[in-house]
Amino acid sequence: VRGAGVPGHHQRRGDFPRRGFRHQVPAAGHPPARPEPAPRPPHLSPRRCLSQRWQRGGNASNSCTVLSLLGAPCAFMGSLAPGPAAEFIAADFQRRGVDTAHVAWQPRGEVPCACCLVNAASGSRTIVLHDTNLPDVTARDFERVDLSQYRWIHFEARNAVEQGAMLERVERHNRAAAPGQRVGISVELEKPREELLPLMGRGQVVFISKDLARHFGYQSAPEALRGLRGRIQPGATLICAWAEEGADALGPDGELVHSDAFPPETLVDTLGAGDTFNGAVIFALAEGRTLQDALTFGCQIAGRKCGIQGFDGIV
Ligand code: ADP
Repeated sequence: VRGAGVPGHHQRRGDFPRRGFRHQVPAAGHPPARPEPAPRPPHLSPRRCLSQRWQRGGNASNSCTVLSLLGAPCAFMGSLAPGPAAEFIAADFQRRGVDTAHVAWQPRGEVPCACCLVNAASGSRTIVLHDTNLPDVTARDFERVDLSQYRWIHFEARNAVEQGAMLERVERHNRAAAPGQRVGISVELEKPREELLPLMGRGQVVFISKDLARHFGYQSAPEALRGLRGRIQPGATLICAWAEEGADALGPDGELVHSDAFPPETLVDTLGAGDTFNGAVIFALAEGRTLQDALTFGCQIAGRKCGIQGFDGIV
């Protein structure tokens, strides 16, 4: 899993992109051959925002923050490339007590950054991501992980082939391990990318996003669960969160479970609500709580997150 963007990295106060229109100057003596150019759109004057901050991001990275705040020791395994953004990210992981020993430091590529605009009136967010050429973690990197140290491993679907091999390694480990020593496996599919879909058939717990559900033409979480249940492995759990409608899940015996959302008094910042939900559900399931409990807990913590900036205060 990779994912550690630094919103706002590109944006400094007073540093606004200047959009220019190139003028073609006709050669001397020749009248302009082209018709009058269309009138220029007015330049937008600089827009001021209420506040600005740098925040470590990315799905798995945010879920680690949440797990750590909930009191679960956890590690992030993703790619970083040395530089100021990575320094910021690594320091922030450390501040949160997230282990970064397995971060794959890449000799090439840049750390992806996003500029996230959060609407103060509604709490909704717009993410402008500059995805870079940073290589993903490979199955070979993953071989260095001592699986016996982990109770749960969560995969954010990114590079299906490599992750398929990683999942195989964990499954092999589980087949050989005593029941108490097995590693829980969850997989998150957020982006509706065709090559990632086979990963839905892996892991005991599969999180799918509203985006993915909509991509398949479903208009609600229960509808998506019923439609996509054939894609998960027998006995697995499929979970779908749906913003203010809360979340639904289909359990190992085919039972449908629902939790309403827990909307905060004021919506402040929904950036990372889904990652918060995932982290909290994993936390509860890894503790052995029921699916209904885990879903409710996920919605409670995610709801609290929507009422605050960032993650401090979700617990
Ligand atoms: P994201 O868009 O960040 O992936 P989701 O829409 O999947 O997030 O929502 C994840 C969870 O966060 C929901 O199940 C819900 O519990 C909570 N949540 C998200 N948006 C809201 C909201 N506007 N009001 C209350 N809870 C919300």
